[in-house]
Amino acid sequence: MSETAFTESEERQSLRKEVAKLASGYGREYFVKQARTGGKTKDLWLDMGKHGYLGVAVPEEYGGGGGGIGDLAAVCEELASMGCPLLMMVVSPAICGTIIARFGTEEQKQRWLPGIADGTLTMGFAITEPDAGSNSHNITTTARRDPDSSEGGWVLKGRKIYISGVDEADSVLVVARMEDARTGKLKPALFVVPTDAPGFEYQPIEMEIVSPEKQFTLFVDDVRLPADALVGDENAGLMQLFAGLNPERIMAAAFATGIGRFALAKATDYVKGREVFGAPIATHQAISHPLAQSHIEIELARLMTQKAAALYDAGDDFGAGEAANMAKYAAGEAACAAADRAVQAHGGNGITTEYGVAGLLVASRVTRIAPVSREMILNFVGSHSLGLPKSY
Ligand SMILES: Cc1cc2nc3c(=O)[nH]c(=O)nc-3n(C[C@H](O)[C@H](O)[C@H](O)COP(=O)(O)OP(=O)(O)OC[C@H]3O[C@@H](n4cnc5c(N)ncnc54)[C@H](O)[C@@H]3O)c2cc1C
Repeated sequence: MSETAFTESEERQSLRKEVAKLASGYGREYFVKQARTGGKTKDLWLDMGKHGYLGVAVPEEYGGGGGGIGDLAAVCEELASMGCPLLMMVVSPAICGTIIARFGTEEQKQRWLPGIADGTLTMGFAITEPDAGSNSHNITTTARRDPDSSEGGWVLKGRKIYISGVDEADSVLVVARMEDARTGKLKPALFVVPTDAPGFEYQPIEMEIVSPEKQFTLFVDDVRLPADALVGDENAGLMQLFAGLNPERIMAAAFATGIGRFALAKATDYVKGREVFGAPIATHQAISHPLAQSHIEIELARLMTQKAAALYDAGDDFGAGEAANMAKYAAGEAACAAADRAVQAHGGNGITTEYGVAGLLVASRVTRIAPVSREMILNFVGSHSLGLPKSY
């Protein structure tokens, strides 16, 4: 192994610096103000797109930078570390961009990828359903051939929950099921559904997260779609879906470590300045040790995220699967601990709106639940990595 195996390339490091610089021009104040006033982050999003950061992993021939998921994860982490964690980074360029780039037809790639890359087109992703929850094999949103369409169109029907950014999205990549003509069993398939399609409705869910990005319930009521709304092969939906899951987990891990870094930076800064017994509270190990612990946990999570991204970008989907799950787990735990310790280190100020730390408790908590919960990752590691029996 070369001496530099644990160091990111100079190119990646300068990408991080550039993104952090752009994001710091917006910063936490901007993000929170937009969240509290019902505003959006469209200007930041478009700025990111204009500079090539959203499309860094989109192939060059479709307007992207031709980089890998490691580059996109670095962008997501740096944004979050500056107080602007954008969930739609996980969804639009990472999940949707990857699935379309890998499995879309030439025409679909040309239609959607340039917009995803420059931010002028945002795509949501909808798999979660109220009754299926973590058991996505149980989803019931169904797709069938449209009997009134002479061109092989589709009709979609079902319901989704907790779908991020639908109000900002032009379309949503919806995971549905259709009947396998050979086996009669239901198999997953992916459809791009425009958010203004007749029969497609969405309602915001009141959430306690301080973020301009909102979550929605989707009602898909006999939505009619053209034949080419189906992305990829209708017989390989599961494999295609899995191809989007590794990038999703790697991005969620980067999102979480970014939040952790932001929380830790705030806490470190605060404890150096706050004096109670005649010296900065940072001199007490009860204050400094938990922060040092967080620094270690975040660095470990970043390392695993980089490993997962490196495996994925090298084409090792299987190896990346285990590492991406572990990275997401470690990053979620590190982010939650960092937010909790940051609040504690701030004392009463930790709960005030002015210091803006308490809001990180919920934001970090999301990274333990979504896109896959810590328990489901432990199930995966127990059965896949350790060969232990499954409980379900
Ligand atoms: C802010 C936010 C944004 C989201 N954005 C999107 C999005 O854009 N698109 C999308 O499709 N979804 C999205 N989700 C949904 C998210 O992926 C789900 O919330 C998540 O997968 C968990 O599913 P659930 O909420 O139904 O929990 P449940 O499945 O009901 O689980 C509840 C609890 O039970 C545990 N549990 C369940 N089964 C087991 C088991 N077998 N063993 C051990 N423990 C178990 C879980 O770990 C969890 O702790 C979002 C969620 C949030 C909070």
